Amino acid sequence: MKKEKKLNTSSLSLLSIAGLEPYKEKQGEEYMNPKQLKHFELILKAWLTQLQDEMGKTVSHMQDEAANFPDPADRATQEEEFSLELRARDRERKLIKKIEKTLKKIESDDFGYCESCGVEIGIRRLEARPTADLCIDCKTLAELREKQMGM
Ligand SMILES: [Zn+2]
Repeated sequence: MKKEKKLNTSSLSLLSIAGLEPYKEKQGEEYMNPKQLKHFELILKAWLTQLQDEMGKTVSHMQDEAANFPDPADRATQEEEFSLELRARDRERKLIKKIEKTLKKIESDDFGYCESCGVEIGIRRLEARPTADLCIDCKTLAELREKQMGM
């Protein structure tokens, strides 16, 4: 569970954003059957809506404030804040792309399997991080490799 720390979301879990309970599998239930896919589609769509809302809010907030600082020093501070915000928006935009890509995977029935080794990623892991495209083992390896390359 510790590995899920680097989520791009607020502390609010994606499940509660979507107003859903953790998925309860019936015994012998097929992995990524239509019911499970629907569950993740709802989570992803709720997440997407939330991110798009936030982005919309920032843009209008920046437009409101942009004209309010005639003093150049104030303006510089404000521009710094804006650039931080823009960087955050940039991350969100990437995340939105990733969510959209994941929704396409649900449509084409590719969702829920590790892109590297093909194993099931698992419902609990996907509920915490629905855009995960690697299983926990491959993800850990990839992170190790990144660290070694000093990225
Ligand atoms: Zn894997």
